[in-house]
Amino acid sequence: VGLQIAIDGPASAGKSTVAKLVAKQLHYTYCDTGAMYRALTLAAMQAKVDLHDEAAVLAILAKITISFKPGEPQQVFVNTQEVTQAIRQPDVTNNVSTIAALAGVRRQLVQHQQMIAKKGAIVMDGRDIGTAVLPQAAVKIFLVASVAERAQRRYAENIGKGINTPLAVLQEEIEVRDKKDSTRAISPLTQAKDAVLVDTTALSIEQVVARIIAITVE
Ligand code: C5P
Repeated sequence: VGLQIAIDGPASAGKSTVAKLVAKQLHYTYCDTGAMYRALTLAAMQAKVDLHDEAAVLAILAKITISFKPGEPQQVFVNTQEVTQAIRQPDVTNNVSTIAALAGVRRQLVQHQQMIAKKGAIVMDGRDIGTAVLPQAAVKIFLVASVAERAQRRYAENIGKGINTPLAVLQEEIEVRDKKDSTRAISPLTQAKDAVLVDTTALSIEQVVARIIAITVE
């Protein structure tokens, strides 16, 4: 088993952007655990299941296989359906925390994530990687940025995709999701005791990547 780098933090702090670049530079595998919760959310929404109904959501999970195909960008699949873009839709984003609060869902997805990590050196990003998925990870990073900065980054990203949600709405959505993720009963979003806090508010992507690489090789 190779080295494990766990990157956690609130929504839109830049975790996946940075995690991908760190993985590329170190030749590690990258695992986006948020994509797994998103893929299940999309599948449950397509099946028109009540997202609070744990048994119904678990029945969907039993019927699907969530997988990643390496590449740039890394692709996400639900069975044979390619969902890389679909899981980023605003309605999936705004519903995912509901499903992520279900104990049985977390138990199974965490198991899946731990199996992926057994295959070799990995950079994994999410909300509970340092606390629950890979508590023995050699490197743990807790990535934060001010909510105004995070909303601004999401806004710029959206404009590039032709989406025009007002900044204030994005900020509100980020705050609501962070609140749900940090107040749920199981593995709430929280900084692991041994994680290094990295505030990216005033840092460029390159600076954050360099900082994490420095912490890893130190
Ligand atoms: O990282 P991303 O924003 O794609 O995550 C989407 C959602 O999935 C989070 O808001 C959270 O509800 C859930 N999640 C989680 N645990 C993880 C990763 C994501 O609960 N390890």
